[in-house]
Amino acid sequence: MIPYGRQEITEADIAAVVEVLRSDWLTQGPMVPRFEQAIASYCGARHAVAVNSATSALHIACLALDLGPGDWLWTSPNTFVASANCGLYCGAEVDFVDIDPHTYNLCPNKLAEKLAEAEREGRLPKVVVPVHFAGQPCDMPAIHALSQHYGFRILEDASHAIGASYAVGTSAEGSNALTEQAKVGSGRHSDITVFSFHPVKIITTGEGGMALTNNAELADRMGRLRTHGITRDAAQMTDEAEGPWYYQQIELGFNYRMTDIQAALGASQLQRLEDYITRRETLAARYDRQLADLPVRTPYRSPGQRSALHLYPIQITAVGGPDRRVVFSALREAGIGVNVHYIPVHTQPDYHRRGFSPGDFPDAESYYAQAISLPMYPTMSESQQDHVTAALRTALK
Ligand SMILES: *Cc1c(COP(=O)(O)O)cnc(C)c1O
Repeated sequence: MIPYGRQEITEADIAAVVEVLRSDWLTQGPMVPRFEQAIASYCGARHAVAVNSATSALHIACLALDLGPGDWLWTSPNTFVASANCGLYCGAEVDFVDIDPHTYNLCPNKLAEKLAEAEREGRLPKVVVPVHFAGQPCDMPAIHALSQHYGFRILEDASHAIGASYAVGTSAEGSNALTEQAKVGSGRHSDITVFSFHPVKIITTGEGGMALTNNAELADRMGRLRTHGITRDAAQMTDEAEGPWYYQQIELGFNYRMTDIQAALGASQLQRLEDYITRRETLAARYDRQLADLPVRTPYRSPGQRSALHLYPIQITAVGGPDRRVVFSALREAGIGVNVHYIPVHTQPDYHRRGFSPGDFPDAESYYAQAISLPMYPTMSESQQDHVTAALRTALK
């Protein structure tokens, strides 16, 4: 079976993990801050807080942004459920903004319309969670401009997008100067950015996630929430320390810590991030060429952006031909581990129970109805890819 995504583990990764296993610190040692520093400096962010999953990172990010009962969190329906669930964990209400049918990301124009309506009704969101679907950055300058006008906070779910970047500012007219690129995670247009290190994502720690920010207070709060809400900082305590052993729980937190074993793996993987994305770009360009004459829509890539290409989602568009379900089954039978990203979150039974219905976000729903994610991972060979496209060609007959 050719999977839709998979990790690469090298001898260097194994050696890095073994070194931690032989050391004094399996957790709360030096590797976690080292990994945080490495990711922060790669992205150009000031602070990074490593945790045991992106889901945990989204949760503590929402808490740090003071999301709570009576507040609204808005996100894209075309995402994994975790992007929305983090709002529910905090007791907030969740709503969605439909996607742009070209990029499959949250549509900034629909966001603008919905914000204008919410302002009239007095229910503006406190937090908006743009999701960089498949690794392609959302229109962050546009979303940021709206946040300045309406006063919401921005939490980027960049689970697919470590290594991605986008153009900022416009070059002077008539000038050939390249526009400046901002890395996803730099926090140029958001309060907090979250990455996932699950094995199907771009780089892995087994399970793991990280929250990046340029705001020292948000970083401090997330660091505390990751470990029970406990502080050892005298300045934060309600009373004087009773002794060198003393700590205080000053708010309710969790055990969301990443281990040093995981951090060592992540730091080792990070050294190959650029190679991984370059390889994904090669594979995506080959898919684009091989599928050009088939009745499928290949993923649109915005000019001026670098996608991390976590996924290669196609749309099955044959009129009167086999539909998505038939093509999906034929590919699975041919030993190809295709997948579908994503079932629109608002159509999940738990969200239906919360008042959402099919038809609420039609662009995400029609995208979903035709979507198949083809295998895409850096160790995929050209001959494996040729097998995938040949099987797809047969399935579409
Ligand atoms: C994978 C993923 C998550 C959750 O990541 P975990 O590290 O598994 O918790 C959240 N959002 C999106 C968009 C994802 O793809």
